[in-house]
Amino acid sequence: AGATGALPFDNSYARLPDAFFTPVDPTPVEAPMLIAFNRPLAEELGLDADRLERHGAGYFSGNVPLPGSLPLAMAYAGHQFGQFVPQLGDGRAILLGEVIDRNGKRRDIQLKGAGPTPYSRRGDGRAALGPVLREYIISEAMHALGIPTTRALAAVATGQPVHRDRVLPGAVFTRVAGSHIRVGTFQFFAARGDTENVRVLADHVIDRHYPELKGAEKPYLALLDAVAERQASLITKWLGVGFIHGVMNTDNMTISGETIDFGPCAFMDRYDPRTVYSSIDRNGRYAFGNQPGIGQWNIARLAEAMLAILDEDQDKAVEAANAAVGRFMERFQTHWTRTIRAKLGLGDDERDEDQDLIRELLVALYEQKADYTLAFRRLADCAQDDAADPALGVLLEDAAVLAPWLSTWRARLAQDATSPAARAEAMRRVNPAFIPRNHKVEEALNAAIDDGDFSLFAALNDVLARPYEDQPRFAAYALPPAPGEEIAATFC
Ligand code: AMP
Ligand code: MG
Ligand code: MG
Repeated sequence: AGATGALPFDNSYARLPDAFFTPVDPTPVEAPMLIAFNRPLAEELGLDADRLERHGAGYFSGNVPLPGSLPLAMAYAGHQFGQFVPQLGDGRAILLGEVIDRNGKRRDIQLKGAGPTPYSRRGDGRAALGPVLREYIISEAMHALGIPTTRALAAVATGQPVHRDRVLPGAVFTRVAGSHIRVGTFQFFAARGDTENVRVLADHVIDRHYPELKGAEKPYLALLDAVAERQASLITKWLGVGFIHGVMNTDNMTISGETIDFGPCAFMDRYDPRTVYSSIDRNGRYAFGNQPGIGQWNIARLAEAMLAILDEDQDKAVEAANAAVGRFMERFQTHWTRTIRAKLGLGDDERDEDQDLIRELLVALYEQKADYTLAFRRLADCAQDDAADPALGVLLEDAAVLAPWLSTWRARLAQDATSPAARAEAMRRVNPAFIPRNHKVEEALNAAIDDGDFSLFAALNDVLARPYEDQPRFAAYALPPAPGEEIAATFC
């Protein structure tokens, strides 16, 4: 196909009522240059990857319309750091449309930073190169880690400056998602008392993300529970790899259960549940260990927004909503128990004393300022080889602290039938060797921004594509920051 043939778009969001969005075209940029293109993802989407890459600078800057697309900005509201804002919306994102991928799954293609929209408020509708590269690296790393997430299809440098606290090079990011529908999308209609469109939205997301609920007796209540379940599972996966989202506002929580909005996010190095990197999170609302509680808080906001459609009898609706919100923590606990047990190499045979084993390890890692990722990765070695203790010396200020724990743990593992080699293998499949270390991300971004050197960006993406493999050649990427290399804060 040439540059003009229509791509296989099927834009179901654009067929929703007018109140859901505003049609808006991207604003052309001066000198677009394709700096990253995700060929495997383009192929997964069933798109002509050669053609997209050849015309990538035009398509992924918004300068050349993707044939078959129907650009629009989505309306939504949201609680930002606890404060309700009745109208946010895509201020710098433009949904191009949806394609059905090779697995029959509907996927949004969206440009981020492609110019102002009616929802831009004071913003310029643009994105800086650094945050675009950060989202590219981290969203793809999350995918490789096995965590539901929006994806990175492309990044384009615009050749235009953007004005933040200093002048920065501009870029446009192409994001792919199951959908960009948020808790805040429900809140947008609920805040206007527009119950009809709350229902239209609920029907749309059931069709799109939860078709199995169509025949349910109370499909909207089932939807609330299903979203809670996916979020409880998602947040558990974040905790499993040390991910701190950083800005879990309700407009940044998807209905599909995908991680979205990689602004000031970061991966924790030393284990401390209070860890915060985001420069805009002054009170630590979105600290590492607060994420399950915030997940529940956000689900409570979704329940409120859906209240009018949960039950004709509003007293019953409130009761059902409260019950659903209450169940969130049980859901989280179930997922977390499974996750942390797997990280410690414990099987399905749950025993009371396992709780102590888990708690004592986490306390020791905290007190010893151990690197979260490396500690669990090394535990896999210790599970395989009884002589592997010294490896822990790298992690802990005082390795002796963990010695009694190690023998109790090993004695416990010996009671399960699994062989040490098989157990260690299983542990390596859930305890990554590589995460996007903040100092490595920063180093890659700085090389690109300051010197136009994208080689570190490319290298980092390569390593992070196989996070559960040892890749000895890239051992340096597995290490925690050396003193002086630590990144204290991240910025959107
Ligand atoms: P976020 O903190 O990234 O979730 O963004 C919150 C809101 O601010 C969303 O409505 C965004 O679309 C909007 N926004 C963020 N940056 C810009 C920008 N540069 N121009 C216009 N709107 C923006
Ligand atoms: Mg956002
Ligand atoms: Mg953002």
